[in-house]
Amino acid sequence: MVTQDIRTLGDYVEKARNDSRLKRTTHSYIADMFQHYSPLEIFPNLRANKRQVGLVSQYFLGSANFGSLAERLLLLLGPQGVGKTTLCNDLKQSLVTYCKTDQGLAYAVAGCPFHQHPFDVLGAEDRGKHGLVWHQEAGPCPVCEKSLEQYGGWEQMPVTRFYYGPRSGIADHTAVDQRREDITEFLGDVDYSMVLKAKGSKSNPEAYDWAGKFVWANRGILDWDEILKSRRQLMTSLLMLTQSKAIAYPKFPKLHADIAIIGATNYGEYDLALKDNVLEPLFGRAFVVGFRYILDAKEEAEITKLRARQMQQYSKFKDDKSVLCINEAVLREYLAKLIVNSRMPEGESGLSPRVTLDIFSNAYMNATRKNAPCISFDQYRDSYEFVLSSELHKNKDLADKFSIDSKLAQQVTKEFFDQLWKTVAEKICATSDEFKRMGQNKYIEYLSVLERQSRGEELSQRDKELSAAVAHYLNTESQKQIQDQEAFERIFIVRLDEYKKQHYTQIERLRGPINNIVSSNIRTILKNYSYNEELHDKDRVLVNELTSAFGQAISGCRHCADGLLRFIGENL
Ligand SMILES: [Zn+2]
Ligand SMILES: [Zn+2]
Repeated sequence: MVTQDIRTLGDYVEKARNDSRLKRTTHSYIADMFQHYSPLEIFPNLRANKRQVGLVSQYFLGSANFGSLAERLLLLLGPQGVGKTTLCNDLKQSLVTYCKTDQGLAYAVAGCPFHQHPFDVLGAEDRGKHGLVWHQEAGPCPVCEKSLEQYGGWEQMPVTRFYYGPRSGIADHTAVDQRREDITEFLGDVDYSMVLKAKGSKSNPEAYDWAGKFVWANRGILDWDEILKSRRQLMTSLLMLTQSKAIAYPKFPKLHADIAIIGATNYGEYDLALKDNVLEPLFGRAFVVGFRYILDAKEEAEITKLRARQMQQYSKFKDDKSVLCINEAVLREYLAKLIVNSRMPEGESGLSPRVTLDIFSNAYMNATRKNAPCISFDQYRDSYEFVLSSELHKNKDLADKFSIDSKLAQQVTKEFFDQLWKTVAEKICATSDEFKRMGQNKYIEYLSVLERQSRGEELSQRDKELSAAVAHYLNTESQKQIQDQEAFERIFIVRLDEYKKQHYTQIERLRGPINNIVSSNIRTILKNYSYNEELHDKDRVLVNELTSAFGQAISGCRHCADGLLRFIGENL
């Protein structure tokens, strides 16, 4: 579509007859953008927040064409690090991209500090004459008012293509320190160097700098973080901007502004404010999009994995070395679980995903510094303690609850241990040839104890222990006392040679007890291993075999398998 020949407001009004792009309010413009791009194109960084993205799309689509949602503040509610800031940034970035496209065409009155929409300057009467349906209250700003005089009416006033960018339809504010939230930050201030030139009048628009966040945000987005920490006076201004689309100036008439305001706050502040009831008018005008922390350890670990990949790529690029193995079991079952448990039960508070990433980054950096092929479990635990020591200053209750020796942390550690030990005991030991060989040796040894006992020979301490262990496991397995131990043993003695030829796994009554005895031996070996005690050659072979098989079972390398086996040993 030809647009180059729009130079004046007269041209604009003429062209606007047949071009709906020129008739858009702020919300209509953004709504069109939501139809032009897919949600993923607008919010490429919010894959995990489909629901919130959907709600925000609906908000803008429902606010087009003077829909009532255009008079609502969009309030993003949720704890730190859930994507509220990312959502705003993605939205702003999309506006910057969209306004450069053909569909994103927009104009502003040239030289207007508010980059006013051309229709604003006409005033209600002239708009009526030209059949333009627009904001009732819209009129020229004080600067445009001056230009109107200069150009002898609106027809000849120049217009220019409007592009979104910082201070051009995009402004943001974070309420941190109320004392520094001066209203001039939002409205602009008298420019004293200009007062003289502007014939001494402070209410002369030429003596005003118009450098304020409300001014910059006109036609676009005002992104207001920690909104409930702002001064009441500002809240009233925001309410007015939302509801009446107006800015009150001390020295100028009330000014029309068309801004989509996006506020953000957390559940704690929100609940307090609801109780206060003072902010009811503003809240009554809010469309709330709630965010919660992820409560699924698997999802939380996925986020860390993305960062891991990025760190791996970069350290490979920069130093030509990198941590080769990122053990997913540790990420998911230990680290992510600790963090996710801090957010129970509602996901409204707790440790932010940033904490997970900080722990991971710290562990990663330490591992590369040590030239380790992977991040050991101990390293994760050290990094967890390190990062949490910083969190402790920010949120004492939470950090105490999740310090490394807290009950909750111990619970997660125990569950992790149980899971690992189950893998070792059931998946590895029970299927390993080494294990079966050890079992068979024990079985033969047991039969020979029975044989010597039946001959009336004196039994050694080791013999007695083995015999007692078999009896013990027989009883625990059958859940009731074996009535007659001697009768049970006699079965084997009578046909000793026959039994010696069999494999213990074929002997139903002894299979369980022998497996248990071998497992218990392995426990002892692992315990000794974790305390760095000298191992017998035979045991060392076993540990080696376990390490390889365990590494495979948890899809990790030998290095992390070794660390986890030691962790198991410590806790057995
Ligand atoms: Zn203006
Ligand atoms: Zn590894």
